[in-house]
Amino acid sequence: MKILTFDTEEWYIEKSLNGGRKERYCQYDELLEWILHTLEKNDIKATFFCVGQLAVEFPEVVRKIADKGHEIGSHSNRHLWVNKMIRREFEEDTYIAIQEIENLIGQKVKSFRAPAFSIGKDNDWAFEVLAENGIKYDCSVFPANRDFGGFPQFTSSVPSLLKKGDYTLNEFPICPATLLGKNVPFSGGGYFRLVPLWLQKKFVNNMNYVMFYFHINDLVDQNSKLMTRREFEEYYKEPGTLKNRITRYVKTNIGKGGALNKLDTLLGNYSFCNVQQAAESIDWSKQPLIEL
Ligand SMILES: [Zn+2]
Repeated sequence: MKILTFDTEEWYIEKSLNGGRKERYCQYDELLEWILHTLEKNDIKATFFCVGQLAVEFPEVVRKIADKGHEIGSHSNRHLWVNKMIRREFEEDTYIAIQEIENLIGQKVKSFRAPAFSIGKDNDWAFEVLAENGIKYDCSVFPANRDFGGFPQFTSSVPSLLKKGDYTLNEFPICPATLLGKNVPFSGGGYFRLVPLWLQKKFVNNMNYVMFYFHINDLVDQNSKLMTRREFEEYYKEPGTLKNRITRYVKTNIGKGGALNKLDTLLGNYSFCNVQQAAESIDWSKQPLIEL
């Protein structure tokens, strides 16, 4: 089972951080066009996790994706890290995002992914909030350490029943591959750009479950500028020292040129499904149960 997902917030982030530069909107429009066309050509339905404010400020973007029959999930309302919020803030954020998206597309939102995989051990109450808001499928668990999130204590990297309090969710974690005895994430973001195509294929061929995750920005084929201290601090909520900014800059840009080509090859060579299709095809009684 190979699941294809896109986290979708670029237009909204561009507007709120940079005032909305035309050339950036054009670039994102073009990439989205390419993605939708390539999916259609290969008869693939993906899940697009959209921020609620994208539905408010750029409804045509969300509508265009939904009109092609792809699943629209929630990627929070304003792309704020869940581990920087208190429960009440996350409740409000989740409610608004789902309302805005459902109002626009006229369909229930069942799937969710937290920005930057920012649900972990210390804020696992977030799963209760998601269930209370009608989310059935969560894709927020990154079962390893990350810069701004991650859930290294989560012991499963296959689809699992996640039990928290009175609630049960279907969890689709990110799946690291095993290489020389080590766990290696490869199926999205910076990792996708770094791992060469031959190795991507080797991993995919050897695994029963793969969760691919992209931001459109991961596929942008040109160097972005170094963020200013203010932009960095607003976005990452971390000190915008030159070292921190350069580290993020390098991580974001390495290998970008080849990402689109790699994705194109994978989409042409394997069959993919979206989160909802995957959830409906799984016999959940046979999957691991993770109680938090
Ligand atoms: Zn995101």
